[in-house]
Amino acid sequence: LKMERRRGMDTSKRAAARRWVILVVGAFLSTLCCPDVGSLAATPRELYADAQACHRRLVASSKKMERRDLWIACIERFQRVYKQDPDGPYAAAALHMTGVLYEQLHAISGRQSDRLEALDCFQRICKRYPTSSYCGKSSGSRTQATPKRSLKQRTRAAAAHSETSAAPPEAPAEPKNHREKRQGPSREPEREQLSHLVNVTGLRFWSNPTYTRLVIDAEGTADFTHHLLKKDPTLGKPQRLFVDLKNCQVGKGLQTTVPIQDDLLTQARAGQYTQDTVRVVLDTKSFESYKVFSLRDPFRVVIDVRGTQQQAPEREPVLAEKSPPGKKAAPGALAKQLALGVRRIVVDAGHGGKDFGAPGYHRGVHEKVVVLQIAKRLARKIREQTGCEVILTRDRDRFLTLEERTAIANTRNADLFISIHTNACPSGAGYGIETYFLNLATDDDSIMVAARENATSAKNISDLQTILQDLMQNSKINESSRLAGFVQDSVCRHLARKYSNIKDKGVKQAPFYVLLGAQMPAVLIETSFISNSRESKRLTDPAYQEELCDGIVAGIVRYIKDISPAVLARPERGPEKET
Ligand SMILES: [Zn+2]
Repeated sequence: LKMERRRGMDTSKRAAARRWVILVVGAFLSTLCCPDVGSLAATPRELYADAQACHRRLVASSKKMERRDLWIACIERFQRVYKQDPDGPYAAAALHMTGVLYEQLHAISGRQSDRLEALDCFQRICKRYPTSSYCGKSSGSRTQATPKRSLKQRTRAAAAHSETSAAPPEAPAEPKNHREKRQGPSREPEREQLSHLVNVTGLRFWSNPTYTRLVIDAEGTADFTHHLLKKDPTLGKPQRLFVDLKNCQVGKGLQTTVPIQDDLLTQARAGQYTQDTVRVVLDTKSFESYKVFSLRDPFRVVIDVRGTQQQAPEREPVLAEKSPPGKKAAPGALAKQLALGVRRIVVDAGHGGKDFGAPGYHRGVHEKVVVLQIAKRLARKIREQTGCEVILTRDRDRFLTLEERTAIANTRNADLFISIHTNACPSGAGYGIETYFLNLATDDDSIMVAARENATSAKNISDLQTILQDLMQNSKINESSRLAGFVQDSVCRHLARKYSNIKDKGVKQAPFYVLLGAQMPAVLIETSFISNSRESKRLTDPAYQEELCDGIVAGIVRYIKDISPAVLARPERGPEKET
């Protein structure tokens, strides 16, 4: 054994010395701009042979096969081949063998992470080397988990397995022009599109240093699962998160690799994992938590990844600014005085662009137009009366997905999220004002409102309810509920001063897509019924909009004071209107 080990070491030393000489000579030649320097890249062949020898020695001894470190050592030798020359002729073969060895190791260790590493290797082959003969080569036992067996049984099984499927390729063949083929954006290889499979059509993302939202678009509904691959320190691999979409195929034109490069993720990549499964992998640097959920009509999968607090950029300290006695605080001073938890507010005008929202009772009146007018007015008033920074999700007539609106609020580290809508009911008789926060719907009317605002069916809302509990963890339910209470109350009281028939429909709860995943207190205000004759007319009236917005701002101010009790002790206040 000792001799064998020493021999192994000698071989590797010799190989290392040879590589070193070649490297030095190569560097020297390249300084002379020798056009033939590329021919020196024959080293992968030696590295490959070295890795093969390592593997042969390993599987020749059942004692050695029980040692994980020896498996990892051989795996690393194969990895060295494709890492050193990822476009070289041995790269695909080496990646294939890395997968094979992990597969065999899994048969012995029973570790899930080994199986997943193997799966990952086989998937990467098809993605990186689509024309390689190794693409799709290993599809046998690799999706099966290992049954519980004794170590001896497992070693024997792995040895048997290595004889059949793991015969190392002696002469890996790669197309000579593969370098040219891989230029340009990463696309999935041309593949016959199958009509019974759902096309995955897009990867979209929004990110800041502590938060990333990735959305996978598909042309139809798909079942999906998600998994976290633990980080493997022995390989220096970070943890990876992946989502498998069943009965799906990579759609034509899908950009399969999306570089993200924030503090949490390096990239997202999609690939045809099996004949009918698309896998989307998020290569992560580090993160604290994540959530995966789907939205309907159109179907999409949303992945929210969050970093730790330490990763959050430090906020500049909030200094309480004292007003001179007897003087009114200047605009903007309120936010500072309040020493607030609230400094940035996102105001979201619902719908827009091709999405008109609910039709108004009167001809030519559309929700998307009315809510934009209200949102702009509200933004101005919040700035004037609180000094808070306000971000509008849209300031013109343009289409925005619901998940993008929350993503804007999250990536901008907003402290409050206010979504503006108008209500509707088929009969036209319904009227009044209601304010929602995200939670399970408790009545059918709320489900109908959520279905309409989510542009989906009531049944889909019911389905969503069942998974909502999990999504709600860490969401600001209590704060949102309180904010909704203050806003609802203030709006109704403000409007009732000047208008008759103001109906306070109260604070309600329902699973609104636009509120899902919001990291700050978030509410959706159904300002009035656009389907009602009287309220449709009022909604388009600047005076009514003005009063409505004053009510919303007063509600926000009450909420801010409620969470910043110190403020109440201050005698001088900003020019906010109190109800
Ligand atoms: Zn709406």
